[in-house]
Amino acid sequence: MNYERFDREDKKIFLVDMRQDKSASGFSSLADAGIRKMLNEKKKVLIIASKKGFASWMLCDDCGFIPKCDHCDIPIAFHNDPQKQLYGICHICKKHYQPFPTCPKCSGFNIKLYGTGAQKVETLLEKEFGAKNIVTVDSESANSQAKVKKLQLALPDADIVVGTSLLATPPADWKPDMVVVMNADAGLHIPDYKSHEKVFTGLSTIVNNYSNNIIVQSYKSDHPSIRCACSGNMDEFTKTEKAFRKDHGYPPYAQLAVILYKNEIEQKMFTTVNKLYQELLFLNEKNGSSIEMYATPPLVYKMYDKYRYNIVLKWENIRPFLDDAFEKLNMFGRWFKIDRMPESLV
Ligand SMILES: [Zn+2]
Ligand SMILES: [Zn+2]
Repeated sequence: MNYERFDREDKKIFLVDMRQDKSASGFSSLADAGIRKMLNEKKKVLIIASKKGFASWMLCDDCGFIPKCDHCDIPIAFHNDPQKQLYGICHICKKHYQPFPTCPKCSGFNIKLYGTGAQKVETLLEKEFGAKNIVTVDSESANSQAKVKKLQLALPDADIVVGTSLLATPPADWKPDMVVVMNADAGLHIPDYKSHEKVFTGLSTIVNNYSNNIIVQSYKSDHPSIRCACSGNMDEFTKTEKAFRKDHGYPPYAQLAVILYKNEIEQKMFTTVNKLYQELLFLNEKNGSSIEMYATPPLVYKMYDKYRYNIVLKWENIRPFLDDAFEKLNMFGRWFKIDRMPESLV
């Protein structure tokens, strides 16, 4: 077993390094043993999965192909319907797909589901642990008042509850004896300057809201956002986060702005963005300002059949330059969308 233990007032937190300790059931060996013990002793377990649905994507092990949505540049995710039949869905435009029995590219049979969602965890618990009374709470099982009511009634009798971040705050009068947080670092790979803060806040909410035994499983257990959330040391997290933002010139040490452009024709999108980029460079030089700027595709390159590209501007004070550019370069009339206080760079 490979974990670090943090003892806090009403709870013990076990931070498991999943690179060192993964059992056959897909859980860490610590969580695996804990779930079996709790089930034996008829105690309550809560498992927090990082994603809803069954699997986040399919991948062909032979050729590396990942089926994507016809209209959006994201992998098709897979969910179980109420009859436990698997179907594909695009999380952006909601188009439905049939699961792929063979790879659409190489026709091979080694196309498999990856990325464990709450429904997959439910299946694992039934298969590997023989758990019977499982309640799953995610944005689909809880998308109406009536469904939420039904779930609340079912919670006290459940042996195991599987939930997404919807359960970061516990329902009233419900207190599990053990909580397992899966993939605590899931948000860290998002290329956004706020991702550390979001992961820290999300994990802290869970850890601070529950008591008893909390097992946090992570592939990046040494990352400050994970360790500080477990230890409850907000000051240390703030200190490292400030240093990171200062080093990279992110807010509050600089101002950011994002100019977004969308077009159904990819070539037209490129030409238009490149033209504006050149104009902005020219204006920057002419005004004697030294705004840092770069053009980059956003995290999702195509949505609803439209290609998207960003120009990111970064400097201590970019507002006067933006106002000038907005007017002189007729950005509004040319369908550029400006976010002057971007919450995120993706
Ligand atoms: Zn789509
Ligand atoms: Zn293939």
